[in-house]
Amino acid sequence: MTFDYDLFVIGGGSGGVRAGRLAAEGGARVALAEEFRMGGTCVIRGCVPKKLMVFASSYGPAARQARDYGWDYEGGTFRWERFRPMLHAELARLEGIYQRNLARAGADIFHARATLEDAHTVALSSGETFTAKHILVATGGAPFVPETTEGHELAITSNEVFDLETFPERILIVGGGYIASEFACIFNGLGTHTAQWYRGAQILRGFDDEVRGHLAELIRERGVDLHVGLEVERMERRDGRIWVKGSDGREDVFDQVLFATGRKPNTAGLGLEEAGVKLGRWGEIVVDEYSQTSVPSIYAVGDVTDRINLTPVAIREAVAFHETVFRGNPTKPDHENVPSAVFTQPEYGAVGLSEEEAREREPIDVYVAAFRPMQRSFIGRPDRVLFKLVVSQKTQKVLGCHIVADGAGEMIQLAAVAVKMGATKADFDATVAVHPTMAEEIVLMKTPVRSG
Ligand code: NDP
Repeated sequence: MTFDYDLFVIGGGSGGVRAGRLAAEGGARVALAEEFRMGGTCVIRGCVPKKLMVFASSYGPAARQARDYGWDYEGGTFRWERFRPMLHAELARLEGIYQRNLARAGADIFHARATLEDAHTVALSSGETFTAKHILVATGGAPFVPETTEGHELAITSNEVFDLETFPERILIVGGGYIASEFACIFNGLGTHTAQWYRGAQILRGFDDEVRGHLAELIRERGVDLHVGLEVERMERRDGRIWVKGSDGREDVFDQVLFATGRKPNTAGLGLEEAGVKLGRWGEIVVDEYSQTSVPSIYAVGDVTDRINLTPVAIREAVAFHETVFRGNPTKPDHENVPSAVFTQPEYGAVGLSEEEAREREPIDVYVAAFRPMQRSFIGRPDRVLFKLVVSQKTQKVLGCHIVADGAGEMIQLAAVAVKMGATKADFDATVAVHPTMAEEIVLMKTPVRSG
């Protein structure tokens, strides 16, 4: 049987573009369809614009600290109308790079919505239909907003936050995950009065319990009005603002309410189930270790499979897919010891197991250094950084490393190399400290604070 293409990719985000580019560079006939903008969530509505806003939000507090350090600083105001066009120009530039790299590799790009007709056929919203030997679904995810909340349609999500016409003076962030916690810190740093309401007992469920508590304290200390055990019961538009009633009876008024209550795989209306592709309960595409779906010619990578929803993981899955399908080298993407950072202020970087996860598996030693770093203690700030190692008693391997500090995202990348290599506590101890730094504590912790 002959096909129009060797590979048809649905979705122009990090995973889809990488797989398409590698296959095209290897000589395969490749097409890719994207209905929105090339670059996907990470470039257009996620990691990249978020990080640029993190940078923007860090200058206000830094300038105030400069005054404490002897600078003549009189304060200032963040100008969204000045920053927003710069932000969008940068996103357009990156989008162009994605598009050009893929086209240069020889892939055909269709700016259209694609749906599956069968195991080898893709139909485009432009009316064209193509066949392909392999189809890769890399359609990502989209914000989920609980429709049970009365007035939920008044809220924005992370999709809209980068396009706001006017900058809010007061914002409510709903949720306690990565996105909620990051945006709470961003808006707080930019000078907005920021409240964060989370339904559970502590933000960042799934991470190390001790670190979650420590970080929540610091987020509050830096100015976010963070409440746990609190949900939105009802929202109404009143005098151009949003009136919100909380589950504890409180009432407040905000200019914007941002729901960051999770993301859902983008699988609706793609013809997946009709083509025989099995979906999970959350709508995710079920794949095996090689990212193959229940239909042998159809593969899926990235957030649409709801494994570990991080850009670099989607890219690794795409590379493994390419090795497996186009280079005859069956390769499983490695989902062990994936480091990540929550870009709160301060940041939280983590790799490996939390104390709770590790203790379920084996006896452990826990090392913690929590202290006021020199840069902050000099100006009388009370906040403490935290460095934590979770170590196997039996093998002495470092099973988990957790850092809460400014720059923890950068630090954890390097610590992750050691953890991934299977470094022991003795390997950390044998490394000479870089003095004076905060991170030197990671090689100086002598006595476990808890064992067992
Ligand atoms: P998360 O799954 O991290 O958090 C979702 C939050 O919403 C949780 O606090 C959850 O509460 C809450 N929630 C869920 N449903 C409801 C509801 N019905 N009512 C009230 N609250 C609710 O999702 P995010 O959207 O923050 O991020 C999605 C993913 O994107 C992350 O898991 C991560 O993989 C990725 N990401 C990574 C970033 C990074 O690497 N820096 C940055 C941003 C996103 P509960 O805990 O009680 O379930």
